[in-house]
Amino acid sequence: MHREIIQIIKGQVTQDGAGVTLTRVFGSDHAKQLDPFLMLDEFGSNQPNDYLPGFPEHPHRGFEAIAYMLEGKMRHQDSLGNQGLLESGDVQWLTAGRGILHSEMPEQSEGKLQGFQLWVNLPKAEKMKPAAYQDIAAEKIPQHTIDGIHYKLIAGSVRLGGEVMQGAITGLPSQLSYLDIHFRQSATSHITLDEPLTTLLYAYQGGVTVGPQQSLDKGELAQLSNSGELVIKGEAGSRLLLLTGKPFDEPIFQHGPFVMNSPEEIHQAVEDYRNGKLTSTSG
Ligand code: FE
Repeated sequence: MHREIIQIIKGQVTQDGAGVTLTRVFGSDHAKQLDPFLMLDEFGSNQPNDYLPGFPEHPHRGFEAIAYMLEGKMRHQDSLGNQGLLESGDVQWLTAGRGILHSEMPEQSEGKLQGFQLWVNLPKAEKMKPAAYQDIAAEKIPQHTIDGIHYKLIAGSVRLGGEVMQGAITGLPSQLSYLDIHFRQSATSHITLDEPLTTLLYAYQGGVTVGPQQSLDKGELAQLSNSGELVIKGEAGSRLLLLTGKPFDEPIFQHGPFVMNSPEEIHQAVEDYRNGKLTSTSG
């Protein structure tokens, strides 16, 4: 049995932060269907005006935000006192938990800036845990090349070429697996994933064929059936993200940068932010 595409979602160009032009591959409209995934943004431009405004200080509560940089430089600063410079290939992992304030600002005034911002939900029991942050340098991310296909394992574990391979981060509440797959030549990839989890493929360069004949074009996100082997045929240069995660099956209420389980909890988050209590660890 092979994985099949059960839904294709096309991203929308929009603006966020202080006026950054980006593609929202999916957002809150799809959060219920794609549980535990809340949002995927792709930013990528050679035009400094598209990215220079950046993301000045803003709050988060109730989920995890994972930034993955393909090209360019972005400076992170947060209310825990962390500072980091995200460069090509690096990952920045933010567990917002009960609350964090942070900024993400481009540290370049020319050239290309390209990357992804993924939001993954936290289960109710962990939404109010203390915030945490870590930088993962590109060289710390496990990479494997099998039959001309390059895999970067940012998170989770998958079975590739008959072997279980671990990503840089494992053991997340969502059981998240996050891979960046690069076809360096025309080839076929066979991947076995944990089941039954929500499984998404995003083709960000070139297109691929899933299973015997379903095509996925550049800029399209596919939701896949949740069992069976994943077979992907790609051409030289095709690149895609593969994401899997366990649905929490809990109510999702989102208001901007806050994602909770009820309107009351959203109200509380807004109150706490207004009163400067979003990040406080007491009460
Ligand atoms: Fe943010």
